[in-house]
Amino acid sequence: MLDPRRAGRSTLALSDHRSVTGSGSQTHIQHQHTSGMVLSKKVRVSPGGIHGYCWFAAEDISAGELIWWQGDQTYNDIDVPTAELNTWPADKREKWLSLAYMVGPDTYRGSDPDKEIPQEEMNEYYVNHSCGGNCWYNGETELLAMTDIPAGAEICYDYALTECEPQWLLADRCLCGSPQCRQKVTGNDWQRSDLQKKYGRHFTTHIMKLIDAEKSKTDQHQPNQPQ
Ligand SMILES: [Zn+2]
Repeated sequence: MLDPRRAGRSTLALSDHRSVTGSGSQTHIQHQHTSGMVLSKKVRVSPGGIHGYCWFAAEDISAGELIWWQGDQTYNDIDVPTAELNTWPADKREKWLSLAYMVGPDTYRGSDPDKEIPQEEMNEYYVNHSCGGNCWYNGETELLAMTDIPAGAEICYDYALTECEPQWLLADRCLCGSPQCRQKVTGNDWQRSDLQKKYGRHFTTHIMKLIDAEKSKTDQHQPNQPQ
């Protein structure tokens, strides 16, 4: 049985632990996307893996190869501000968040909740978190293999690359099983210097902006640092 609550793209277990905050009733759905995404033919969705359904490499994938990218399909993704989400009925919000991901500090992207999600689009959501993930972002429209990924291996990435809601927590404890497992995965992990060093410019766009803003603040406070 397909269980998106356990395998949402970027938002695994989000619906169990995220508390969406915000009070505005003046906000509204911002816009609809008319372009969808493409999942590499080398990627298959299978039962198993870290959390039920997940992405597996059907054949060898080389470091740098595209895993998932902006295409020209006509999916009905929508961007929803957190304040708007807070006005939705709880069950609708939780269901939608389980298949949504952050595209800005206060904005989530997911399928139009009033429309049926095509299976090929649904497949794009089944990528799990791992603290030792094997893919990363180039901007927000390309997911690339970070390392060579052998056929049969699960494809996953570190949700620190996309998540920045301070209250967000990936379940009670991360179960990724990686030797690099942080145990506690939160919406503040993008701030960790070890992860910034590890991932460089491969966080998604909205996280890169936060990192750059933090860095320029730090630089301003240390004007006399030696070069
Ligand atoms: Zn982990």
